[in-house]
Amino acid sequence: MSEPLNREAWLDALRERIAEITPVQALAQQAQGALLVDVREDAERATGMPANALGLSRGFLELRIEQIEADRNRPLLLLCGSGQRSLLAAEALLRMGYRQVSSVAGGFGRWKTEGLPISSGTLDVDAVDRYARQLRLPQVGEAGQARLTAAKVVVLGAGGLGAPVALYLAAAGVGKLTLIDDDKVERSNLHRQIIHADARVGMAKTESARIALQALNPRIRIETCTERLQANNVERLLAGHDLLIDGADNFPARYLLAAASLRLKMPMVYGAVERFTGQVSVFDPRRDDSPCYRCLFPEPPAATDAPNCSEAGVLGVLPGMVGLLQATEALKLLLELGEPLVGRLLAFDALGMHFRETRLPRDPDCPGCGRAVVFRGYEDIAELCAAAN
Ligand SMILES: [Zn+2]
Repeated sequence: MSEPLNREAWLDALRERIAEITPVQALAQQAQGALLVDVREDAERATGMPANALGLSRGFLELRIEQIEADRNRPLLLLCGSGQRSLLAAEALLRMGYRQVSSVAGGFGRWKTEGLPISSGTLDVDAVDRYARQLRLPQVGEAGQARLTAAKVVVLGAGGLGAPVALYLAAAGVGKLTLIDDDKVERSNLHRQIIHADARVGMAKTESARIALQALNPRIRIETCTERLQANNVERLLAGHDLLIDGADNFPARYLLAAASLRLKMPMVYGAVERFTGQVSVFDPRRDDSPCYRCLFPEPPAATDAPNCSEAGVLGVLPGMVGLLQATEALKLLLELGEPLVGRLLAFDALGMHFRETRLPRDPDCPGCGRAVVFRGYEDIAELCAAAN
């Protein structure tokens, strides 16, 4: 029987069997398609890890690696804090049949010392699994996912439009969603507000939505405001976000949202539905050429013309269609992808199944964003149809 080895001798023996590479070599191999796996614990990685590395704690390595990379021929580069745990990890993977396994000498300590690229460390195994199909898009990737994680989005209204928008933004990993709604779930909501459930009739919509969203994606943060948006709370509730989703079912809230969008320089993704038709646009006050909501609707309509108040019917899929268009625009804005729907109004007619786009230029005389307009504070406009409801 051989002598028991002390720690140093044992590591030396490992080094004879395992290829060691420098962090610079690891970076170069990563660029050629090798998978860099950071095997440190979640808490160690939380403060940062090599860019585009996969975080997979040593304790889960053998259990999860096949799900992540089944190809035994792909080069795997293992990294830990100082280069010792990664030697052990490499040995384990060699035993599992992975053929090209290396350990990064000096680990993350040396990676940092050498000034190599570091990411925020948001991609743990759960995130890699959960977002795999969008991470694979080069236009999203780890950097895009990090943007989504950092994003804070207001969804005004947890109703027909807010339901699909919130569900898809939560699923995509938008880090913080703030839901504003002061209504309770009613049974007549359920044919279109699919974030709610029969068992939650009577519950606050914000709470009901929070339950559904957190069940879909427990990684994100949901903030609920069970209040009506008003002049005296609008800035407090909206400040500090990146994007406003208009899922309001009443004009007072929508005009406040539009005013706050201009004041706080936050893009507003507008959507509205009626019967078999809907429309969508994006108002982005960060751009000089962008119209605002009031370039489209300068003043609130007369009570008799306010369609949402007269309880006009709507086919349940309509807000779903329009909400998904809003969610698409929201993700594009957050990821800075493609051509946003700025300066264009997209109208949808379900019966003919037509989409029609009209140009929507900024109006220099707009009562919202016009050149001569001076902001004099937020204004509560009267609920137009209190009697009709
Ligand atoms: Zn305007």
